[in-house]
Amino acid sequence: MFENANNRTELSQLGEFGLINHIAKAVELKNPESVKGIGDDAAVINANGNQVVVTTDMLVEGVHFDLVYCPLKHLGYKSIVVNLSDVYAMNAQPKQVVVAMAVSNRFSLEAIEELYAGILMACKHYGVDLVGGDTTSSQSGLVLSITAIGAAKEENIVYRNGAKENDLICVTGDLGAAYMGLQLLKREKQVFLENPNVQPDFEGNDYLLERQLKPEAQDETIRILSEVGVKPTSMIDISDGLASEIMHICTQSDKGCLIYESKLPIDEKTYEQARAFNLDPTVCAMNGGEDYELLFTISLADYEKIRSRADISIIGHITAASEGYYMLDKSDHRVELKAQGWDAMKPNV
Ligand code: ADP
Ligand code: MG
Repeated sequence: MFENANNRTELSQLGEFGLINHIAKAVELKNPESVKGIGDDAAVINANGNQVVVTTDMLVEGVHFDLVYCPLKHLGYKSIVVNLSDVYAMNAQPKQVVVAMAVSNRFSLEAIEELYAGILMACKHYGVDLVGGDTTSSQSGLVLSITAIGAAKEENIVYRNGAKENDLICVTGDLGAAYMGLQLLKREKQVFLENPNVQPDFEGNDYLLERQLKPEAQDETIRILSEVGVKPTSMIDISDGLASEIMHICTQSDKGCLIYESKLPIDEKTYEQARAFNLDPTVCAMNGGEDYELLFTISLADYEKIRSRADISIIGHITAASEGYYMLDKSDHRVELKAQGWDAMKPNV
């Protein structure tokens, strides 16, 4: 199945996406009901004419969250939201979730109740049912693996691979705030470790903390797009950072892109804090990740239908594959895009 099975290749050589591609090459779909396999935000399954979408995401303590600054209730809420975000990215409606957890005896019943209070709050907010899961023990912290199931009509599903030349590139909300929230939490954790008597200083940064600790999924965007009669030509949610996600759309659609730095939606608070941390706000917006906004492309003909929407920014357009992936910076220089977003297999920095 795999060539060179006797050699040893470090996973860091492939990176997360290289590894997924490698696995995908060995997979062949046999059932006609398996409409879309590995490679999009969710798999698509044909169930008697209706499409069912399925997506799964795992959150590992010490890798994806730190319980020093992430309350269990928030963790529960976020773990559902990040999965639903992938369902919305297919232009589908989430319906059910399944929750698997590995937990150590470090956690009490009350702690697990907190976690589930967050999980159930998110289920209620987004109108999904918790229909099952699995519980097992762990010797290395908490692991949560959540699967979300959604539904859509076949003609409404939006894949990553449908972007066409000259399509407009759109993004919801604003970018980089969750990353700045994480930087603030890490800074205060460091201060706390050095001196436990010092109170954390989060003054005026509620928005950034909320974006990190209690993100929301884009159910509203899906509703609005359907209301104004726009079906995106391609769509993905932003979990790893805009640069990485637009490159997924472009590679899968066999296209290039031009993003305008001046059009990137960045909240004032994100600007302020990025400067305070000596970071470039554009880099935070392009590569920060965990925004859980939707990135999508629309045909030029649909421009009028969304131009007046304050919550959707048009940040660039799709080009021919031969033109590559570029950003036009504020001094009109073309900068080649590089995906520096979160990559699970690369050393964590
Ligand atoms: P997202 O960031 O939208 O959750 P991922 O980058 O995690 O997407 O995954 C991309 C695609 O690869 C998805 O179709 C996912 O189901 C698939 N995938 C990820 N890991 C594996 C794996 N270990 N085995 C098979 N498919 C995988
Ligand atoms: Mg996704």
